[in-house]
Amino acid sequence: MVKKQNNHVCVIGSGIVGICTALHLMKKKWSVSLIDPNGPASKASSGNAGLLAASHITPVSSPAVLKQVPGMLLDPNSSLVISYSYLPRLIPWLFRFVIAGRPKKFIEYSKNLSELLKDTYSAYEPLVDEANCSNLIKRKGLIIALTSDESLEKIKPELSLKKSLGVKFEIYNKDKIKRILPDLDSIVKHAIFYENVSHITDPYMFAIKLFDNFKKQGGKHYLQEVKSFKTEKKLVKSVITDQDEIPTNAVVVCAGAWSKKLASQLGANVPLETERGYSVSLPNPGINISYPVISGDLRFCATPMGDSLRLAGTVELASIDAPAKKSRYSLMIKHALRLFPSLNLTGASYWMGHRPSMPDSLPVIGKSPIYENGYFAFGHGHIGLTVAAVTGKIIAELASSGKTSIDIKPFDSNRF
Ligand SMILES: Cc1cc2nc3c(=O)[nH]c(=O)nc-3n(C[C@H](O)[C@H](O)[C@H](O)COP(=O)(O)OP(=O)(O)OC[C@H]3O[C@@H](n4cnc5c(N)ncnc54)[C@H](O)[C@@H]3O)c2cc1C
Repeated sequence: MVKKQNNHVCVIGSGIVGICTALHLMKKKWSVSLIDPNGPASKASSGNAGLLAASHITPVSSPAVLKQVPGMLLDPNSSLVISYSYLPRLIPWLFRFVIAGRPKKFIEYSKNLSELLKDTYSAYEPLVDEANCSNLIKRKGLIIALTSDESLEKIKPELSLKKSLGVKFEIYNKDKIKRILPDLDSIVKHAIFYENVSHITDPYMFAIKLFDNFKKQGGKHYLQEVKSFKTEKKLVKSVITDQDEIPTNAVVVCAGAWSKKLASQLGANVPLETERGYSVSLPNPGINISYPVISGDLRFCATPMGDSLRLAGTVELASIDAPAKKSRYSLMIKHALRLFPSLNLTGASYWMGHRPSMPDSLPVIGKSPIYENGYFAFGHGHIGLTVAAVTGKIIAELASSGKTSIDIKPFDSNRF
């Protein structure tokens, strides 16, 4: 049995969300234990595309995406794939995904996300400064590459919504694209440039630097798996792991795609699924790109990471335990070669990770519906790296004073 302390909080999960939450709680004078059976950033927070995508205010489900989904599911070269053996389990999530893409909901959720994303940099700043890792963040912006006039027309409603919500962008023509990205193939006709996006040149190392600072400041780390909670009336009294019972004054569930069971034990039934994503890292890509590029048509991202290049993307709706599919890597490479024909693939390394995804693309940030000292911070889908620090800041405010700097009602676990 671990010794009892005052102001002790257990943060479950040491992905980027758990680490940032732990650090923000420490700033509010909490004594923090970070619990995870795996090392820090060993799941979704390592092999991702590395974008601090403060401009990504629109949810995945949209009127435009819903129109494209049937065609994508029939296309073997599409970046979206569903495991049909898993389909019966997925139906409730898919149903909610469709509802989330209706025009009114799309606008509402975009507003909610823009509130969350506007603090992206200010919430990271103190954590990054103290961990001395600002050198890993490059503020270059983001290019969305489009291969046809039709693609540009399709994206225009989304662009005007973004503009109305304060997102800054410019539309580049072919000449401008050629000047800034000479190795991009001439099939690219238009590009959208978002200036308020940064990229992290090593997302794993970034998380490790933050984690090391957590340890340096006296944070405790348990390599243990949380199994359940001991509760008394409306309070969580201790966290039960596979090895220990850890008394606590509060608990935060930050277990990414594995949060559903833990949240359910704290009284919330959340429609959390995983959108599995893939990445291929090329140590010697043989091309020079200084900006992250997302292909708007082929739907993958190419992020420069130091001397190497990381290709990342794909949405695969399948069981959390299913093995990675090699065909997804080959497809991403095939797509990347269309945009960057002289890409060198020698020494490629491969990764698959689990995006923790809610059907409306809004994370779950808030309190347990039953336990006064139980908190949730999971379900960040495609933008977990971007909003990890904002999430941590909100949880620290909530646990310390009950008040938050932004309205967190839209992110409540009971919103469905
Ligand atoms: C291909 C790809 C590209 C992406 N690109 C970007 C991007 O460019 N920008 C961006 O913002 N986001 C991106 N994302 C999304 C982002 O990576 C995730 O949203 C984010 O990493 C989720 O962080 P997390 O801490 O919630 O989850 P994770 O990093 O998965 O961490 C969860 C942790 O919980 C632990 N855990 C599970 N169960 C238990 C338990 N019972 N007890 C204790 N611990 C437990 C796990 O071991 C794990 O360490 C991308 C994702 C993918 C797959």
